Amino acid sequence: MSHLSLKNDNDPKPSLTGDLDPGLSALIDRLAQGEALSGPELINLIDGRTPALAERLFHLAREKRNLYYGRSVYARGLIEFTNYCRNDCYYCGLRASNAKADRYRLTTEDVLNCCQTGYDLGFRTFVLQGGEDPYYTPERVAAIVQAIRQKHPDSAITLSIGEKPKEVYQLWREAGAERYLLRHETYDSDHYASLHPPQMSRENRLRCLNDLKSLGYQVGLGFMVQSPGQTTAHLAEDLLFIRDFEPQMVGIGPFIPQKDTPLGQEKAGSLELTLYLLALIRLIAPRVLLPATTALGTIDPFGREKGLLAGANVVMPNLSPREVRAKYLLYDNKICVGEEAAECRYCLDKRLSKIGHQLVVHRGDCVGFPLTAAVAPPIPMAFSSL
Ligand code: SF4
Repeated sequence: MSHLSLKNDNDPKPSLTGDLDPGLSALIDRLAQGEALSGPELINLIDGRTPALAERLFHLAREKRNLYYGRSVYARGLIEFTNYCRNDCYYCGLRASNAKADRYRLTTEDVLNCCQTGYDLGFRTFVLQGGEDPYYTPERVAAIVQAIRQKHPDSAITLSIGEKPKEVYQLWREAGAERYLLRHETYDSDHYASLHPPQMSRENRLRCLNDLKSLGYQVGLGFMVQSPGQTTAHLAEDLLFIRDFEPQMVGIGPFIPQKDTPLGQEKAGSLELTLYLLALIRLIAPRVLLPATTALGTIDPFGREKGLLAGANVVMPNLSPREVRAKYLLYDNKICVGEEAAECRYCLDKRLSKIGHQLVVHRGDCVGFPLTAAVAPPIPMAFSSL
């Protein structure tokens, strides 16, 4: 067991006492045994949380994670290749209306250089993330994907560039992309509408997720914790959606305001609730790939370690060129904007080994996801053995 406590005295504490409530503890045990809980039961588990209940939950979440993934942590090399976006999400620093954003685009050559740097450092998954930038036409993105696929056939390519028609997702799938990250943000229509402009809808977001699934992508969805207007009932709905959709990845992180957005004065989400939800997700969808996100590391110096100790198994170090990192500001005070890729990787290596985990050289596919022979994963290898 790690010396690192998941408790942090600076975090808002749940309102109840620290006793382990037998009824709520039994609900957690049922989840760990693979039983499906109802919405009201999930609401009780969230609203009734105490430090003691959280410790029990984290313990079971770690056990479940270790069952499928051991103590290996998969690294995704993140390449933020454009911060232009045609959308205007109310919480995001890249929104089109944010005149203060310092915009940039990486070239294909830049992206390939980032991949090569990452490959040399042992990364075998590249995540191309960006705003919905019309400059990057479907064909341009497909050409980049093909170029990465040719240079690094043993690596997985993940895209995270928003809502597109099914034909576009298909084009990219055929070009060699295998995974797609698209947070659903909230399953509730009204809550979705309160975070997005009228031309965006929960229905289209769900249509995209279903299209991606039908095309054979490993699909990642997720949401911000304590985004403005979020209730416990919304969170329970999000958890039920995760259970029913059966995604391969789930990305959650605390809401962090970006000062130049309409929601820039809102309160940030808490580490405490984010960790609790991470652990619940690990029990609800045991095989899921679950990142300890940069947002977690932003609200707490040991946020990512605490995420792993709550059942996460993925980290996403940044491979973007250092000159552009500070410009990709989805939210304020983002960490790791000043380090080179190699520094990030070695820093993470050290941090993880302190809590008994190790970064591994591996594509890191979701356990149980049917892969074609062309993308069958190699045997995992520790980074330190490179
Ligand atoms: S959240 Fe995504 S789609 Fe919305 S403004 Fe930001 S980058 Fe664009």
